[in-house]
Amino acid sequence: MIPMVDLKGQYQTLKDEINKGFEDTFENTSFILGPNVQAFENEAADFLGVKHAITCASGTDALHLALLGAGIGPGDEVITTSFTFIATAEAISYVGATPVYVDVRPDTFNIDPDLIQAAITPQTRAILPVHLFGQPADMAAIMAIAAQHDLMVIEDCAQSIGADINGQMTGTIGLAGCHSFFPSKNLGCYGDGGMVTTNDDSLAETLRMLRNHGSKVRYHHDIIGFNSRLDELQAVVLRTKLKRLASYNKERRRAAHTYSRLLKDVVTPPHEDGIGNHVYHQYTILSEQRDAIMQKLTDNHIGSAVYYPIPLHQQKVFADICRGVSLPVTEDISRRCMSLPIYPELTDDQISSITEIIKSAV
Ligand SMILES: *Cc1c(COP(=O)(O)O)cnc(C)c1O
Repeated sequence: MIPMVDLKGQYQTLKDEINKGFEDTFENTSFILGPNVQAFENEAADFLGVKHAITCASGTDALHLALLGAGIGPGDEVITTSFTFIATAEAISYVGATPVYVDVRPDTFNIDPDLIQAAITPQTRAILPVHLFGQPADMAAIMAIAAQHDLMVIEDCAQSIGADINGQMTGTIGLAGCHSFFPSKNLGCYGDGGMVTTNDDSLAETLRMLRNHGSKVRYHHDIIGFNSRLDELQAVVLRTKLKRLASYNKERRRAAHTYSRLLKDVVTPPHEDGIGNHVYHQYTILSEQRDAIMQKLTDNHIGSAVYYPIPLHQQKVFADICRGVSLPVTEDISRRCMSLPIYPELTDDQISSITEIIKSAV
């Protein structure tokens, strides 16, 4: 039996360190914005090479707070991709702005910069690229378009923590980077968690207030904020795992490359465009025989999943704003894509048995 993600094996190797941190926290009872949250924010900022790392309660909140902090609101349009998790667009809707969907590149599934220009209107305020499945979007092209039209860029890094473009980490290139620590993400905690990264001092200050009831000084409230803090126990887990993130991502790449070597004549493996370093949050293939492959894997107790079966522009919730929107590449990919189990501990032997089953299904 091989699941999509296996967090149990990893916990066994981290158990002593995490349990010790938990016990210390239980003893000192500093549960909210305590020493581990502070230390994790410093360590994450160092690791990513960014001035500010502001943790919050989830990746969805990171997107929401970043958009709010950037001053995006009702009447504004934000250009993004339809081939992503709903949270990307939900956050745009939370602030009263409208998501405007642009098609993706057929090989990387990331937003196609060549199509952004045509989607820009006088209402456009920002571009929100997603580094999908762990592969950096074409940030050089996106930043150039943004500069030309005076737009902000907010990066959805929920799947890409640790991925870089020529040494510069995703989440440190645009105005803000939004990260998720959902358990199955490349850097996952044991519950919900999120973070915004930025080099902008004033945005960082606003974000620190927004996540904590609009307050800089206790019981002094300057703006309407939220209760959106990372809790101390999650920070313990994240500090333990951050030290190992580079090696975890390396193992994900090893697993992905083993898959691709074994599958390249059977299905369309993921394409690395060389723009950045792919950290394989998901290993996603394309095949006309998707259903047969998934059935065979299920029969053999091997996990698989479709990310994403219904693109956002075809979701009921966006029916009103997406009437007549057609994104042929996104629609084609969502019909043929499927993701296979991937995590740092997945062995080459396991991968070879998975690929043998896939070969027998097509
Ligand atoms: C996971 C994810 C989010 C949301 O993160 P949560 O921590 O689950 O709220 C946002 N965008 C993308 C692309 C994601 O994969």
